[in-house]
Amino acid sequence: MRGLLETYYDIQRIRIALNNQLFAKNSGLSEQAQVHLKEKVLHFLLQSEKNLQSFMKVSLRYEPIWKEWLKDVKGIGPVLGSVLISYLEPIERFSTISKLWRYSGYACIDGKIERRQKGEKLHYNPRLKTLLWLLGESFVKSKGFYRELYEQMRAKYDAKWKTPEDCGSAVCKRFGKCLDAHRYAAAKRKVVKVFLVHYWMVSRQLKGLPVEKPYILQYSDKHTHLIPPPGFDIKFDYGRPELPSELERLIEAV
Ligand SMILES: [Zn+2]
Repeated sequence: MRGLLETYYDIQRIRIALNNQLFAKNSGLSEQAQVHLKEKVLHFLLQSEKNLQSFMKVSLRYEPIWKEWLKDVKGIGPVLGSVLISYLEPIERFSTISKLWRYSGYACIDGKIERRQKGEKLHYNPRLKTLLWLLGESFVKSKGFYRELYEQMRAKYDAKWKTPEDCGSAVCKRFGKCLDAHRYAAAKRKVVKVFLVHYWMVSRQLKGLPVEKPYILQYSDKHTHLIPPPGFDIKFDYGRPELPSELERLIEAV
C-alpha cells in the first residue's frame, strides 16, 4: 500500500508543479498551447490520482481499523487512511504510546520537541512526520471531533501564551508577542498527538492486544481527564500496571 501511496503523492506533486509552471506569466507558451497542455496532461494526471485513490479504497476494505473506525473519522479520507495504515501498522511494533510518538516525530525530549540533530541518527520517520502534519491540517479543516478538539486546545494556548516569555519561542521573542502561527501549530500538534493515542488504542483492541490503563492527558496543572476516541468503545485492561510517570511528564511537556 505504501508504494501506491508514494506514487499518488509523486503524481500529485508533478501535477501541482506543472500547473504552477503552465500558468506562470513567462512560461513562453501561447494561450492556446497552455489550454491544450492543461486539458491533456493535467487531466491525465488527475485521472491517475483518482485511479490510485480507487485502488486505495479497495485495499482499505480489508483493513479492520479502516472499516471499524477510521472511515467514520472526519478529516480522514482514503489517502490519509492509507498513510496511517501503511506507516503505523503493524501496531505491535509499538509496545507503548511513547514509542509510537517517537517514531512519528511527536516525542518530547527533555521538555522539547524532538528535532533533527546534525550528525545524529534520526529517531523518527521524517516522511511520516510530514504526512501527519497534513493530517493535522485536514483535521482543522474538517467539522468533526478533532476540529473541536483543536478549538479546545487552541483556547488553552491562547489563554496560556500571552507573551514570548510564556511560550519560550525565539521567533515569538523577535516579534515581541506569541504569534498566532505558534499557537496554531502547538494546538494542531497536540490534536495529532491525541489522535495517535487513539489510533494506538483502537488498533490494539482490534487485534486483541491489551490496551493499558489509560494515562491521563494533562492540559493544565489542575484539570486532568482522558479523551476517549470518537465512535469507538475501548475496553481498557486494568490488570496491567500503570504507565510510568515519565510518560505523563512527556505528555505535559508537548
Ligand atoms: Zn509563541
